[in-house]
Amino acid sequence: MSKRASIDPTYDVVIVGAGMAGLAAAKHLVAARRKVMVIDANSQPGGRVRSELIDGVTVDHGFQLLNPSYPEAQRMLNLKALNLREFTPGVRIRGSERAHNLIDPFRSPRALLNTIKSVPGSRLEQLKFAAYITDVAKGYGNHLQYRTDGTAHDALRAFDDITRDVLAPFLAGVLFDDSMTTSRRLVDVFLRSFVRGTPAVPATGMGEIAQQLSRGIPLSLNESAVRVTATTVTTNWRVLKARAVLIATDPHTAARLIPGLPTPHMRSGTTWWHRAPVPVAALNGGLPILTVDPQRRGPLVNTVVMNAAAPEYASTDQALIASTALGTGPFASAEISKHLSYLYEANTARWEVVAVQTMAQTVPAFPVGTPFRQPSRLENGIFIAGDHRDTPSLQGALVSGRRAAAAITHTLA
Ligand SMILES: Cc1cc2nc3c(=O)[nH]c(=O)nc-3n(C[C@H](O)[C@H](O)[C@H](O)COP(=O)(O)OP(=O)(O)OC[C@H]3O[C@@H](n4cnc5c(N)ncnc54)[C@H](O)[C@@H]3O)c2cc1C
Repeated sequence: MSKRASIDPTYDVVIVGAGMAGLAAAKHLVAARRKVMVIDANSQPGGRVRSELIDGVTVDHGFQLLNPSYPEAQRMLNLKALNLREFTPGVRIRGSERAHNLIDPFRSPRALLNTIKSVPGSRLEQLKFAAYITDVAKGYGNHLQYRTDGTAHDALRAFDDITRDVLAPFLAGVLFDDSMTTSRRLVDVFLRSFVRGTPAVPATGMGEIAQQLSRGIPLSLNESAVRVTATTVTTNWRVLKARAVLIATDPHTAARLIPGLPTPHMRSGTTWWHRAPVPVAALNGGLPILTVDPQRRGPLVNTVVMNAAAPEYASTDQALIASTALGTGPFASAEISKHLSYLYEANTARWEVVAVQTMAQTVPAFPVGTPFRQPSRLENGIFIAGDHRDTPSLQGALVSGRRAAAAITHTLA
């Protein structure tokens, strides 16, 4: 095809962005026999969910996990074919004196006694928290999304010690924010998914999710939208005409393409991938458990040995460690190395950096009062999807894609 601007045949739908939202929408539209074209500026599909092989090890885009309890993941993905590798359902708290593991006793009854001994706070506080988490876990349907909103801090203040030592450090890594000002509705929904499912990665990396979703989808990679209307997409080399246009990019690009679209504040983060010349079993007893540091003695909010969960990520005579800090730094590598040494109680002098990922956009902020669902069709007739239109997660992005596909199908009928 010539790189001169040319008018392409008309599609039913052109989708800009092959992240989770764009791919989910495409999947639904293709199933409904619509003529679809998905374009993406990147050289591979998946957007924020992708993996690469660096020097023989699998490196995802930041430390991210798929929670198989996400209803939309169950609907859209063949979870069995992803060969999910689970992490330990709990967290390892590195306290100033020692480290201890808090493991969900319902999924690991052997951990019951240790967990009871290790949960911080008075008995009363522990009982109040148990009641809270039971209520959240039950949280049928939309019950959690419509309860009176407030900050996560307000919702969790009744269990001060547990929040300070466990929940706040854990949530900082999930939300890429440690202010605890996120909407308690979102936090409740996330806590529910952690109680209901054990987070995991596909054996060959998070990118496998995008590979699976994109099968059978007409996809044009390395193609960027520069201008859009309700029926055209002008890219870096052609003009695509369609009966409907869906923008499924990250929120900042969406706002560039659709002037006036409100943009959420995006959280940022930095992830280091280290290779340690020790067997996997040498760190945390070989347990694939997320370590957090309530006292924040360094920049990292969490760290985990990836190939303790997914041996396919790297060979077992070396440990592959993913560690994340909030923000984009700059961070001194000596500071990271020192913090890792504290967190793992190990000598990190010979740990080698495989990759450092500075991510200006991780997930949209979700302050108090943010609606769980925002319209899929804008006043100008352009359709929109992405995690910024639902919840900031794989689940949210997939749902937004389904909702946009339904709105398009309805309009084109
Ligand atoms: C480090 C990190 C950790 C995370 N951890 C988790 C986790 O553990 N669990 C969880 O559920 N979620 C997690 N998330 C969030 C999750 O990855 C996102 O919510 C989800 O992937 C967003 O998908 P999306 O389709 O909305 O957007 P994106 O993935 O951003 O997709 C947008 C696509 O649009 C393309 N694009 C942009 N501009 C153009 C253009 N001009 N023309 C054509 N194409 C364009 C991009 O290349 C991209 O492919 C994490 C995210 C990050 C970054």
